[in-house]
Amino acid sequence: MKLTRRDFGMGAAALGLTLMAERASARMGKPKDVDVIVLGAGVSGLNAAWLLEEQGLKVLLLEGRQRVGGRVFTLQDQPGYPEMGFNSMGEGYGRGIDAAMRAGVELENLVPRFRGGPQQELYLDGRRITREQWSTSPLNPFPDQLKGSMPWEVTGKMVSQHNRLPDGGLWNDPSNAKLDISLYSFLKTQGLSDAAINLVSLSPYYGTSAYDVSALMLEFNDGFVKGQIAAGPRMLAVKGGNINLPNGMAKLLKGDILFGKDVVAIDNLTDKAEVRCADGSVYSAPRVICSLPLPTLRNIAIRPGLSGPQARAVAELKYQPLSIAFLTVTEPFWEDDEASPAMWTDDRLGVVMPQRFGADPNEITGLTVQARGHLAQYWDRLGKEDALALVVQRLEALRPAAKGKVKGAYLHSWTAERFNMGAFSYFGPGQIAAFSATMSEPVGRLHFCGEHTAVGARGLEGALESSERVAIEILSL
Ligand SMILES: Cc1cc2nc3c(=O)[nH]c(=O)nc-3n(C[C@H](O)[C@H](O)[C@H](O)COP(=O)(O)OP(=O)(O)OC[C@H]3O[C@@H](n4cnc5c(N)ncnc54)[C@H](O)[C@@H]3O)c2cc1C
Repeated sequence: MKLTRRDFGMGAAALGLTLMAERASARMGKPKDVDVIVLGAGVSGLNAAWLLEEQGLKVLLLEGRQRVGGRVFTLQDQPGYPEMGFNSMGEGYGRGIDAAMRAGVELENLVPRFRGGPQQELYLDGRRITREQWSTSPLNPFPDQLKGSMPWEVTGKMVSQHNRLPDGGLWNDPSNAKLDISLYSFLKTQGLSDAAINLVSLSPYYGTSAYDVSALMLEFNDGFVKGQIAAGPRMLAVKGGNINLPNGMAKLLKGDILFGKDVVAIDNLTDKAEVRCADGSVYSAPRVICSLPLPTLRNIAIRPGLSGPQARAVAELKYQPLSIAFLTVTEPFWEDDEASPAMWTDDRLGVVMPQRFGADPNEITGLTVQARGHLAQYWDRLGKEDALALVVQRLEALRPAAKGKVKGAYLHSWTAERFNMGAFSYFGPGQIAAFSATMSEPVGRLHFCGEHTAVGARGLEGALESSERVAIEILSL
């Protein structure tokens, strides 16, 4: 029986997976211990474990941190429960919505919280430029048709309007390899000057500059975003903090989740796979699923070693530098200087985003400040304490009314997190063609999942998609 991703979305029960599980279990030899070890208790690892347990397999989860969720991470001790990782899902997140239902958490629509309040404003060279002023500003480097667009809108707009992919589902098909060029080349073809490209790349969603990100990946991403918009207008997040989702998913599991298990080696043997942790413990099972982000996998000895495009992917796939500061506010300084609290700057401050997560959606519960790309790398070089002090100092410099009214409460660097070493994966130009199609294939007894291995969806939905694919892979043995 051959299963496609679409079949799986129809529901496991309808597909007779139980039968497949019995066959798989028999072929693996009955476990002395467990059938499958899952490395990493982010949403992809948790969901893979749940899917396999549902089909009767015994699963053990090994997690390096002292918590589940990985890149789903809520600051539960700060006002408004700010999110340092996963923010929200679109209405087309069928898997995400299903996981939330299973986990028994309530989803709420964030749109009313973000619709209110003043729009994001631009700060260049220390000066505030409103949307009205921008189209005629001497600092505006955009061609005439884009003069009215703010810098943070341009890349998305250009990719959306000039998307070259006739079928987003075929984004990594070899026939599209010629499209795997840099965002820089793509934007150049659309008539943007170097000054314009540099400006739109100051706070890039993906990459550190327009040179190191694949336009083809952005076009695939654009198709996914359009699908979400078509599915409905709501943006859904978990009430009380997104971390409740992985916490709820973990409670559904029958097998153990062992915390503080920093995996350092995986031995792919003929009759089993062995996993070694930094504390000296060793676990073995007929199959191992690795959901670890590739920058962390780079530091793990896989024996025998990976080869070909797969080895290249582990060594080279890029991960987004991204840091987030959370500031508490004692007085609404934006009422004093009558400018928006939402700021997109070319300053070392980064991008300031007011949070509205109180009982009243108009109340600002704090500010998150994001550094992406090179700015995130600069913050990392400073270290957390100095970077947080810098954020407050630069905010006060650009907004004197904020003086003494903001406090740096927390700084989270996804690059500095040793169990991630980057926020999310992205392909550089040429990398899709070089290794995307084969990078997640099983190697001996070792299987792979995680957001970086998704081929249909993106973000959290992609992580869940990958867990379905890997569960099918094992159940089909
Ligand atoms: C800032 C940010 C914002 C985001 N916003 C959104 C959004 O709005 N919408 C969306 O859909 N997606 C969003 N995402 C992406 C989404 O959060 C991820 O795609 C998803 O959570 C990834 O899950 P995963 O299981 O693949 O990886 P992870 O969550 O990273 O799980 C991997 C696990 O492996 C563990 N691990 C790593 N190394 C080791 C080791 N050596 N030994 C043992 N364990 C180890 C980690 O601790 C972790 O728990 C965002 C991500 C970030 C960082």
